[in-house]
Amino acid sequence: MKYLLIIGDGMADYPVEALNGKTPLQVANKPNMDELAFKGRSGILRTIPEDMTPGSVVANLSILGYDPKKWYTGRGPFEAATRGIRLGKNDIAFRCNLVTEENGVLVDYSAGYITSNEGRELVRCVEENLGKPNEIDFCAGVRYRNLLILRNDSYSDDVLCTPPHDALGAKISEILPRAKTPAAEFTVATLNRMIFDSKRILEDHPVNVNRVALGKRPGNMIWPWGQGKKPSIPTLQEKCGISGAVISAVDVVNGIGIYAGMEAVTVPGATGYYDTNYEGKADYALEALKNHDMVLIHVEAPDEAGHSGDHDQKIKTIEDLDRRLLGRMLRGLDQECTIAVLPDHATPIKVRTHTKDPVPFTICSPLIEPDEVKCFDEVSARKGGFGFLERGEMFMQLFVVTR
Ligand SMILES: [Zn+2]
Repeated sequence: MKYLLIIGDGMADYPVEALNGKTPLQVANKPNMDELAFKGRSGILRTIPEDMTPGSVVANLSILGYDPKKWYTGRGPFEAATRGIRLGKNDIAFRCNLVTEENGVLVDYSAGYITSNEGRELVRCVEENLGKPNEIDFCAGVRYRNLLILRNDSYSDDVLCTPPHDALGAKISEILPRAKTPAAEFTVATLNRMIFDSKRILEDHPVNVNRVALGKRPGNMIWPWGQGKKPSIPTLQEKCGISGAVISAVDVVNGIGIYAGMEAVTVPGATGYYDTNYEGKADYALEALKNHDMVLIHVEAPDEAGHSGDHDQKIKTIEDLDRRLLGRMLRGLDQECTIAVLPDHATPIKVRTHTKDPVPFTICSPLIEPDEVKCFDEVSARKGGFGFLERGEMFMQLFVVTR
């Protein structure tokens, strides 16, 4: 048996007034997801424990069968894994956004969705000015998503950092990193100094001067958050006896896959945005399925549409995922396969950020008895034969069924 796990990031939503009280999943034309729900069995899954912050790392760990309370150590170390950055036992990895600051206020968590080339130049400049060999490393990533690694035993990860996408419009002085324990004071002082120094260094950088001249937002400040030390989780093979590959444009999802012993497959043109290469992801997934038992395909675009509060765009990302990715794969599959579709968490249009609401899921397998559910959406899944799974880790036990 092969396994296809398709995750539409942030796909779940609340009823939208402009859609006559329906959710984007209910409105979208998505015959392939509906067919899986019709032939399969659905349910509702809590991917975010009540007392944890909703986000993709926690949610995707849950889905892959890892209790996030036990294994979640912050987003940074998972992103580091993706880039092949080795973390020592006490090293601390932070996600380090390039953001836009204006008059003491955080106005953009992505510096106007800055390009990777521009971002790389800015990060190189920060590294040259603020980096220290074997102690403070800045690593450029995709677009605004970079990393900061602190590699000295005098640093602590007991720091309260603010995710920049949750603090748009906030005064910088009110959202700076804070120490949770006295031992973290030195770390916080270092971080805050670097945040302000980065503004001075980046403000007049040619990349930013050019962006401003073109009416784009500059990447004029670094913003560290999501820090942690490296986790040591058991692999998928050790846990479920299967091998796996992961296909995602998002570093952190690849990072989870790598810690779980999966192969991270790079697809040309996969962007993590509306313009991602859906067809390429489908083709590479089918190819990866030849060498692995399971392939996880993650699509970030619905989450981006949720964050921007654009319901039409969100519907389009769901339709693209359905037709250009899922439909193409279903046509190309030539062996017995269990297929699951689900969001990792909800990113409702109304709140424009992640929520803890349980998500709908459907599993279609020759080994699983179908239920009465005919469509894939938040409302239909509530009547599903799997019912309500309180713990996210239970999903894998239902998904990976072997003869
Ligand atoms: Zn997510």
